[in-house]
Amino acid sequence: MDSYTKLLNGYAKFRDQYLAKENDIWRDWAKDGQNPKVMFIACSDSRVNPVILTHSGLGEIFIVNNVANLVPPYKKDDETYHGTSAAIEFAVTQLKVEHIIIMGHSGCGGIRALIADHDTDKDPEANFSFIRPWMKIVDEAAEFTAVEKENSSIEVLAATCERRASLISLNNLMGFPWVHEALLAETLQVHAWHFDIGSGTIEAYNTDTEQFEDLV
Ligand SMILES: [Zn+2]
Repeated sequence: MDSYTKLLNGYAKFRDQYLAKENDIWRDWAKDGQNPKVMFIACSDSRVNPVILTHSGLGEIFIVNNVANLVPPYKKDDETYHGTSAAIEFAVTQLKVEHIIIMGHSGCGGIRALIADHDTDKDPEANFSFIRPWMKIVDEAAEFTAVEKENSSIEVLAATCERRASLISLNNLMGFPWVHEALLAETLQVHAWHFDIGSGTIEAYNTDTEQFEDLV
């Protein structure tokens, strides 16, 4: 079966489910509008889907997907486009979400590109027109010490970098004024998660221990 036919078959199944009586609530949201209380900032990676990973339903999670689940720093008067920042603004000021979760993951291609960018043997011609400047947001995450480089495989360095990058994004997130205000008012909590694709386990950053720990 080709990939497009697979979509059409899946859509037919979705329609059957959508029209079932027990899913009236989904159709109610068509007239009442969405009211999710959780926002995820997740990678575009096809293996990372917050709705599936948390057994959520339609209307429950507001999601931004971008390369490597990054949050840029708060910059108002910049002439670039701010898709992620706009989504965060909408989620916090309009939807009034109660949680924002930045979810990194194992085997992240964006993070691998960032690490490759820090490789002194890199091919300068092997540029990514948009990925390279985008990944600059978390450039510091790939600044490994000489000891780290010597003692770690590329897999370990990548796993470290994925987590560090999420923490940089978390810090950037808290720099948005309305996020900061909501945190102070205790109407919002922010989280950094890391999903291991191979095992299906999720770790969350614990601000007390300053470590990523099993979520449950
Ligand atoms: Zn990724």
